[in-house]
Amino acid sequence: MKIDGRCHCGYITYEATIDPEYIGICHCTDCQTFSGSAYRTGALASKEQFRLLSGKPKIYVKIAESGTRRAQAFCPECGTHVYSCSPDDPQMFSIRTGTARQRDRLIPSAQLWCQSAQPWAMTLDQMKQFSRQPPVRP
Ligand SMILES: [Zn+2]
Ligand SMILES: [Zn+2]
Repeated sequence: MKIDGRCHCGYITYEATIDPEYIGICHCTDCQTFSGSAYRTGALASKEQFRLLSGKPKIYVKIAESGTRRAQAFCPECGTHVYSCSPDDPQMFSIRTGTARQRDRLIPSAQLWCQSAQPWAMTLDQMKQFSRQPPVRP
């Protein structure tokens, strides 16, 4: 499936072809910190299928507990996290699906690192819902 996307400020733009069967949610604590939220969602594209159209991302290399190094690519202007990949000669890119114009069609099929998932993130459908910003609390 062809997708295209951008960071929030538009400095970084890309296009890619992803496999819609391999979209995952990651509940690991690194993803919680990077997102400033409960999890991140990624879609995979190979090196041949991912193309940066504009911008030069800032790269931060994180080292996992296992010793695995992983390059995290952010927009240096607005901080949007666009993708991650191996820091050396990357073959696969994990694109953060929230940056894609087609995000509503990128449906995850698996959840990883559930051992560190925030319990509330597993039961979102049970929470009160507002279609937009709710009224300010008095
Ligand atoms: Zn940006
Ligand atoms: Zn993760």
